[in-house]
Amino acid sequence: MRGLIFPEAVGKFLIWCGEGDNEFCFCTWGTTDLTELQRNMAFYYMEDLLPGPIYYEDVQKLFAITFETRKDRRALEYAVDFLKIEDNGEFHQALDDAVYTARVLSFIPDEIIDRNYSIDCYQNPRTREEEIRVRYDTYEKFISREFATKEDIMADKEVTALRCFACGRNAKKKLRWFSDNGRNYFAVGYCEEHGYVKGKIRVRRAVDGAFFAIRTTKLIGESEVDKIRGKQLSLRAKRQKKGRK
Ligand SMILES: [Zn+2]
Repeated sequence: MRGLIFPEAVGKFLIWCGEGDNEFCFCTWGTTDLTELQRNMAFYYMEDLLPGPIYYEDVQKLFAITFETRKDRRALEYAVDFLKIEDNGEFHQALDDAVYTARVLSFIPDEIIDRNYSIDCYQNPRTREEEIRVRYDTYEKFISREFATKEDIMADKEVTALRCFACGRNAKKKLRWFSDNGRNYFAVGYCEEHGYVKGKIRVRRAVDGAFFAIRTTKLIGESEVDKIRGKQLSLRAKRQKKGRK
């Protein structure tokens, strides 16, 4: 057998990382690695060694923002090829992928790294004091505390608040919160000065079975408002059809 058993390996790894926010920062390809790490640590009752939520850099996202569009997500192999990074033909091997990810990161400008960090919520905020608000260039993100049910989330004034991304004033509700499939909610507001504001709430299940919300707010144009309205109408039509059966 090669290698160390997990608790020993993760212990050594974290000592290597060092302590404190300024000593290290996780950089991953995609959003799943830290969740997986913490899930495995929890299995061994080791999660206290890595308190969350964890701020990290998702290099897959940074690559997209730098070289493509915010929404693209490419395979690591694609990025390596795109940047003409020398490779040994091996992908999906832990060590090789870590090295490639680091090489790709070296192509990303510092200001993009600084302004586009991600937050892993495997260990989600539990209390009001732990709630998270961050402002990125084009949108704001709010991560709520825990609620017992989805209904409690949508009844909360703070979670469902819709403020203008530009000035922070309450936006006038144009489309009230509606749900697409029970996991995502959308709303549109209007600020006299800055125009339309889109709110999106994603309801997430916490490990302990409770629920929490991730809300994003950004400014949008009229065509986007029409799209959201169209989505609401088609959902309503579907529901009515179901109701008639
Ligand atoms: Zn405004």
